[in-house]
Amino acid sequence: MEARHGIVGCDYRDHGGLVNRKVAKLYYDLHTHTVWSDGDLEPASLVADASAAGVRVLALTDHDTMAGIDEAARAAHVHGIQFIPGVELSVTWAGGVTVHVVGLGVDGANAQLRQALENLREARLKRGRAMVEALSAAGLGGAQSVLERPGIVSRVHVADWLVACGHAPDRARAFKRFLVRGAPGHVAVQWPDIGVAVDWIRGAGGCPVLAHPSRYRLSGGRLEQLVRAFVEAGGLALEVVTAGLDAGEIGRLARLARRHALHASVGSDFHKALPWRLRPGGLPELPGDCRPVWERWPAIRLQGAD
Ligand SMILES: [Zn+2]
Ligand SMILES: [Zn+2]
Repeated sequence: MEARHGIVGCDYRDHGGLVNRKVAKLYYDLHTHTVWSDGDLEPASLVADASAAGVRVLALTDHDTMAGIDEAARAAHVHGIQFIPGVELSVTWAGGVTVHVVGLGVDGANAQLRQALENLREARLKRGRAMVEALSAAGLGGAQSVLERPGIVSRVHVADWLVACGHAPDRARAFKRFLVRGAPGHVAVQWPDIGVAVDWIRGAGGCPVLAHPSRYRLSGGRLEQLVRAFVEAGGLALEVVTAGLDAGEIGRLARLARRHALHASVGSDFHKALPWRLRPGGLPELPGDCRPVWERWPAIRLQGAD
C-alpha cells in the first residue's frame, strides 16, 4: 500500500475555539517550488529543508506542473510531514492582468487537470523556443539549453542563462533588458482565464487560493475587483500571509479575505535556500480572526489518502 500522504486525523472543523491553539502547534507552508518549475531544490531536498525548519504541513505548488509531487510525497512520509499536493497556475484576469492561483489538495490524476497541465507545458515550450529565436536574432545565440531542462520552461530560466553568459549582471536586469514587453527577447503568452483555471482546480477536488495578492501592484479598488472576480469564479481562499509582508499588509489582506468570506492561506512561495530560507516561525501566523484554509481540509481530496 502506498504511503498515506493525507491529513487524515487532522480535522479541526469541530474544535471550535481550540482551532487557534492547535494551529499554533503546527507550522504550515502551503506555497513552495522546486526544480520542476523555477525553484532551486529537488522535491526531496525541499521537504528535508522544510522539515528541518519545523514545517509540519507542506504543500508543493510548482508553476503549471505536478511532476515533483510523487517524490515530495514520499519524502514527506519519511520525514513525518503532512503533505498537500498542489500546483500554481498563471492565469489572465480582465483580459490582460496576469495573476497566480494556487490549487491546494488537487488530484494530479484528474484527467482534465492533467490535460490542462500538458497543454501549459507545450505552450511554455513554444514560448521558450520563440524567445531563444528572438534572442538569437538580437545577437544573443546559444540559449537552446534552456529548452532541454526536464521541468517547465519559464522566463526565469532564460534570465538565468543570460546572467550565466554575462549578458546581464543579475536576474532582475536580465528581465528588464531582454525579457519584458518591448525588449528584444519578449514573447507574449496567453494564460488561461481565471475562471477556467479555478474550474480545473475545483474539478480536481482542490481549493483555489489567490496567491500573493500584494504582488500585482493593483490599487485597492482594482484588488477588490480582482478578489470579487475570483470569488465569482469559484475561488475559495486568499493568501494572507506570504514572505515579505509587514503586519499592516497582513492585516489589510485578512480584512479583504473576511469581506469576501474567503478562507486564509499561509505560504512562503519558497524558491531558493536564500534569501527566503524556511525556518520555524519564518512566516508570521495568520491573524486570529481569519478562517484558516486548513479548516477546509476534510473536504479536500488528498493524494494517497483512502
Ligand atoms: Zn506566484
Ligand atoms: Zn509561487
